[in-house]
Amino acid sequence: MTQTRIHRLATRLANQIAAGEVVERPASVIKEAIENSLDAGASRIDIELESGGVQLMRVRDNGQGISAEDLILALARHATSKIDSIDDLEAVGTLGFRGEALASIASVSRLSLTSNASEQGAAGMIAQSEGRDMTVSVSPAPHPRGTTLEVRDLFYNTPARRKFLRTEKTELGHIDEVFKRQALARSDVAFSLRHNGKTLHSLNCADDQAGRERRIATVCGAAFMEQSVALAREAGRLSLHGWVGLPTFSRSQADLQYFFVNGRVIRDKLVTHAIKQAYRDVLFHGRHPAYVLFLEVDPAVVDVNVHPTKHEVRFREGREVHSFIFSTLHRALGDLRPGDGGAADASGEDAQEGVGWSTTPQQAPMGLLTPPGGHWQPEAQAGTADLDALSRLYKSPTFNRGGHGTPIMEQSPRGDDESEVPPLGFALAQLHGVFILAENAEGLVLVDMHAAHERITYERLKQMRDDSGIRTQPLLVPQTITLSSREVAAAVEMSEALIALGLVLDATGDEQLVIREVPIALIGGGIEALVRDVLSDMLAFGTSDRIAAHEDELLSTMACHGSVRANRRLTVPEMNALLRDMEMTERSGQCNHGRPTWVQLGMQDLDKLFLRGR
Ligand code: ADP
Ligand code: MG
Repeated sequence: MTQTRIHRLATRLANQIAAGEVVERPASVIKEAIENSLDAGASRIDIELESGGVQLMRVRDNGQGISAEDLILALARHATSKIDSIDDLEAVGTLGFRGEALASIASVSRLSLTSNASEQGAAGMIAQSEGRDMTVSVSPAPHPRGTTLEVRDLFYNTPARRKFLRTEKTELGHIDEVFKRQALARSDVAFSLRHNGKTLHSLNCADDQAGRERRIATVCGAAFMEQSVALAREAGRLSLHGWVGLPTFSRSQADLQYFFVNGRVIRDKLVTHAIKQAYRDVLFHGRHPAYVLFLEVDPAVVDVNVHPTKHEVRFREGREVHSFIFSTLHRALGDLRPGDGGAADASGEDAQEGVGWSTTPQQAPMGLLTPPGGHWQPEAQAGTADLDALSRLYKSPTFNRGGHGTPIMEQSPRGDDESEVPPLGFALAQLHGVFILAENAEGLVLVDMHAAHERITYERLKQMRDDSGIRTQPLLVPQTITLSSREVAAAVEMSEALIALGLVLDATGDEQLVIREVPIALIGGGIEALVRDVLSDMLAFGTSDRIAAHEDELLSTMACHGSVRANRRLTVPEMNALLRDMEMTERSGQCNHGRPTWVQLGMQDLDKLFLRGR
């Protein structure tokens, strides 16, 4: 140890230390610059880069600008125009508020800030900082109203950081991602991005719904827009709107997931969990949903001052937010019906239609598979087997073997008027005992019989479970488990919620619980591990869907066994009955494993196959 005396750090060094947190790479600079431009009310932001931003980043806006007297302060650390008191901080509505981005960036690059805040065409001013004290010099420079930030030679004076820079292409990729996020957040602002003299993006501003959809389609791809549904819901202090990808539009990577809280893109465990839970039942194993969602909340209920880069937030009412996001998405996905924009709709038409909240009537609980003479009977006694298994797991099931199915067969199979054709149309034929071919208004519908029937059966089983309640059973030998005291305390505090899930737990010590009763359906499984997972969910999110998930798995297996197998011949009325059932069943666009149950081949798609112009 050579250092014995305490001394103040030079301004530049102090700023460089702060830069360690906020300026990781060129993309961080672009993020801070765009945020500043948006905070200044810009309606147009133009970005120019050289060499992945390492050599040059120039961000120009038409915002309100910075007055000559403020220009020096703009480059100083802990100087901001955005907040003044702790009350301001707790209700902050701007993207920035820390007052350290420009000072940090200036300490690790050659930075200049040119701005003009006058409305009457006076010339602008340019500011630059120098030396270890980062003294700011200001001189006149022409600039229209607005601000230009220029950053050259990032990390020229911090070799360790410079070493972490990747190739030009990689750095450009990171900038592109930052650019996209901001562009998605604000379709009312025009953006452009140029790299080494080449325009990569040029986005016009748009203020109406059509324009917003165009912006999303440009940034996320037309396929996403076509294969997603719009949703919007407001409840109390929370409002959520945006687009969620159809389950069949899932991705192998979690790379099309944008979640904004009050215009700020964030990554949050609670949010991710709520969304994942909403997709649980409909997504193919290992796939990731795609979404662009905007949550608007009272700034007072969310803490944005959690991390210097502000990628994280802390919700003051985490449970409320979780359940709001989950229920909104769960309903939007459950309400999807053929005709709402379809499942794997090959033509992509109508896919942009919004999901209405109350337009689709809730599915009436239906009898299981066998209304005599009405619905079709897929396999002798399959339905009965399911009922027996079910009644062992759930309390006095209130199902109805008669069924409420409409006597579809008596209907004339084909209306004269096109508008009478139901969304999935009328069956024409069956192919190799596997697919149903049907004709609807758009063209040809292909249905995977087994997959479709499996979903219908599964949804009915779940409905019965929900109608009848969980049956629990005391363990013959109560199981003792050791947990952290925090988890035990949570179990005691939330014992009512746990009982509702079918779990009766008793605390027998600070770090010990006894499992006394569990849902019958789960006996024999790894109940201890499940209880641990449930408690850790409850601690993190205030809720847990693990028990439901395990039960659903069981029901899904039952549904799979009880569903029509390949190579069974169906009559045309049976096929039509299946199509009508699909139209009424929640989540019927995917089977229990997330595979599509039907696809649409529109007349245009068919024309294309035959190279037929129209
Ligand atoms: P913060 O954004 O947290 O306030 P910054 O260091 O990013 O801190 O910016 C400091 C100040 O400089 C801001 O508070 C703002 O007043 C001003 N400023 C920065 N960029 C712009 C801009 N593009 N247009 C207008 N004012 C700006
Ligand atoms: Mg800022």
